[in-house]
Amino acid sequence: MRRISIFGATGSVGTNGVDLIRRAGGAEAFHVVALTAGRNIDRLARMARELRAEIAVTADEALLGDLRARLEGSGVEAAAGPSALIEAAARPADWVLSAIVGAAGLAPGLTALAQGGVLALANKESLVCAGPLMRAAAARSSAKILPVDSEHSAIFQALGSETRDSVKHVTITASGGAFRDWPLERLEAATVAEASTHPNWAMGQRITIDSASMFNKAMEVIETHEFFGLEPERIKVLVHPESIIHAMVTHVDGGTIAHLGVPDMRHAIGYALNWPERAPLPVAALDLARIGSLSFREPDEIRWPALRLAREVMAAGGMAGAVFNAAKEQALDDFIAQRIGFAQMAPRVEAALSTLSGRAGFADAPADLETVLHWDRIARQEAAA
Ligand code: NDP
Repeated sequence: MRRISIFGATGSVGTNGVDLIRRAGGAEAFHVVALTAGRNIDRLARMARELRAEIAVTADEALLGDLRARLEGSGVEAAAGPSALIEAAARPADWVLSAIVGAAGLAPGLTALAQGGVLALANKESLVCAGPLMRAAAARSSAKILPVDSEHSAIFQALGSETRDSVKHVTITASGGAFRDWPLERLEAATVAEASTHPNWAMGQRITIDSASMFNKAMEVIETHEFFGLEPERIKVLVHPESIIHAMVTHVDGGTIAHLGVPDMRHAIGYALNWPERAPLPVAALDLARIGSLSFREPDEIRWPALRLAREVMAAGGMAGAVFNAAKEQALDDFIAQRIGFAQMAPRVEAALSTLSGRAGFADAPADLETVLHWDRIARQEAAA
C-alpha cells in the first residue's frame, strides 16, 4: 500500500488533496502516515479519523489537548508544535503533499525530501527561499520533487521528455487577480475583502491577495527559475484573464506547446498523485466552444511591481529569495491587519531587499536551513510596519 502524508491538509490545496485520496479509495487504498494542520483541529481530526492516519499534528502546541480529545478512541496519535511537524515529516512515506502556506512549510518539506519518496510541492516558498537546499536534499536521497502549482505542473507536462536545452522560453499565465482592471489610483484604497476575491480560482486568502498584487506570480517566476533551471530571460509572464492556458513552452524550433484546463487545483494535485501514470480525475472537461475566446495582454509593471522585483531577486541570488518571501509575508500580514494599504506592500518588500542586500552573507547560497530562517527573521523585522 502506498504510504502518503499531507502537510497543510486543512488548507485549500490540502483539502483538495484529501478529497482526491478519498475518491481514490481512502484508507482502503492508501496507508495515510501523517496529516497536519495549523489551527483547524476540528477539520484535521475529522480527516485523520476518516483516513485512519497514523498521526495528526497541529502546529499550535496550545491545541494539543483539544486535538487529543477529538481523536480519542480513534487510534490516531496526536502531536503538536513545529518539532512534531518535523518528526511527522521524518516518518517514511512514498508520497508527501507539501501544502503548508508560507515559510513554515520549509522544514517539513526538507525533512520529507530526506526520506527519498515523491514530494508533491505546492508550498512555493520552499523553492523561492531555499531552492539549492531542496535540490541538494532531493539529490542525496534520490527523492523526486513534482510541481503542484498549476503553472509549474503545466510546464512539467508540456515539457514531457524534452530537455531544457530545447526550450527557447516558457510563459506562465496570470489572471491578473482582483484588481486587473481597476484604475491605478483606486489601488491605494483597496480593502482586504476586495483583494480576497479571485476571478477564477478558489484558493486560500493569502495566495488570493498575492494574486491581486502579483506577488504570487513573482513567486512563481522565481519558482520556475529554481525548479526548471531556466535563466530569468527564458521566463515570461502573460496576463490571461480566463485562466485556461496555465503555461506554454516555446521551443528553439518555433513550436509552442501549451497546457490548458479548467482552473481546478485537483488536476495538478491529481497529476502529481498519479504520476508517472494518468488516471481519471474529478475535473470538468474543457469546453472551448463554450468559452469562445481567450485573451492575453502584457503585464503592466507599474500596476504589478512585484514582477520587476522577481527579476531583481533572481539576478541577486543568494538570500534574496528568502528575504523577498519573508518581507512579502510580513507586508501581507500588515495589509490583512490593516496597518498598511494594498499599494504599500511592494515598496516595503523593495526597501527590505535594498537594505539587506548590503549585509554580509546576502549574496551567498544558503548553507543550511538555519541560515535561511535567520534571513527570514531579519527580513520580517525590516519589512514590519
Ligand atoms: P491555505 O491558507 O488554504 O492553507 C494553508 C495550510 O497550512 C492549512 O492547512 C493551514 O492550517 C496550514 N498552516 C498555516 N500556518 C501554518 C504554520 N505556521 N505551521 C503549519 N501549518 C500551517 O493555503 P493554500 O492551500 O491556498 O496554499 C498552500 C500552499 O500552496 C501555499 O504555499 C500556496 O502558495 C501554494 N499553492 C496554493 C494554491 C491554491 O490553489 N490554493 C495553488 C498553488 C500553490 P489551518 O488552516 O489548520 O490553520
